[in-house]
Amino acid sequence: MTHRPRKRFGQNFLADPDIIRQIVDAIAPLPGQHMVEIGPGLGAMTDPLVARLGHLQVVEIDRDLIARLRTRYPAGQLTIHEGDALAFDFAALGSDLRIVGNLPYNISTPILFHLAGFAAQVRDMTFMLQKEVVMRMVAAPGSSDYGRLSVMLQYRFRMGHLFDVPPEAFRPAPKVMSSIVRMVPRLLESLAAQDEALLAQIVAAAFGQRRKTLRNTLREFIDETALSALGIDPGLRAERLSVGDYVAIANHCATVARA
Ligand code: SAM
Repeated sequence: MTHRPRKRFGQNFLADPDIIRQIVDAIAPLPGQHMVEIGPGLGAMTDPLVARLGHLQVVEIDRDLIARLRTRYPAGQLTIHEGDALAFDFAALGSDLRIVGNLPYNISTPILFHLAGFAAQVRDMTFMLQKEVVMRMVAAPGSSDYGRLSVMLQYRFRMGHLFDVPPEAFRPAPKVMSSIVRMVPRLLESLAAQDEALLAQIVAAAFGQRRKTLRNTLREFIDETALSALGIDPGLRAERLSVGDYVAIANHCATVARA
């Protein structure tokens, strides 16, 4: 029976064998690796991944698709976790995880923030997302794409834009261009925030009104003199600061709060 793609689950299925091969080659799965695919759908990537790995775990929300997957693979090859990836505890799958997927575009940002919480359990992640989101993830300070998503993900991961995938590679075709991105957790030692929740609040405040200067947007957290003492011009806007600058502000505020 054919499956009718569900918009609410962001279902655009990969249908171009060359692109599928290119993505799986970029992932480079090796037998025995601990991999989980988010949103296997009709199995476009699942098939070659299972073939190369021997065993794969998947997280899928659509019950009809799960029923299909169950009939297609023996349990020894595929472990199916039925449910919402946004609420899924990836830490329960162990460590050294490789997480992959052609992610549902309607929940890209929340899923990336959710996954950032499991960086300590992850070896790497390779995802397909809208190109526009990938550009924001990898953007450098000073560019118009640089924002909260860039800072919070670059704080935790080294990221690379691998290649683009055109709409024609999918059924149904999405309206936008897609890209493949690789995310590898960074060692935090040199750039660790003492209080990551505070870092997130400061970054949200700075970019919440990105046309205003830091002296205004960060007033609640830090005054002009302290910003200058950190070597940061209070007259700048959020997009000019590096991830390291944000960590320095957050660590200054955490120290003051403790004193
Ligand atoms: N991997 C398949 C492919 O490349 O053809 C399907 C990709 S499709 C863009 C996204 C997949 O994620 C669908 O199978 C959809 O049902 C699933 N999905 C959507 N929302 C989800 C969620 N919150 N948790 C887990 N899976 C989800």
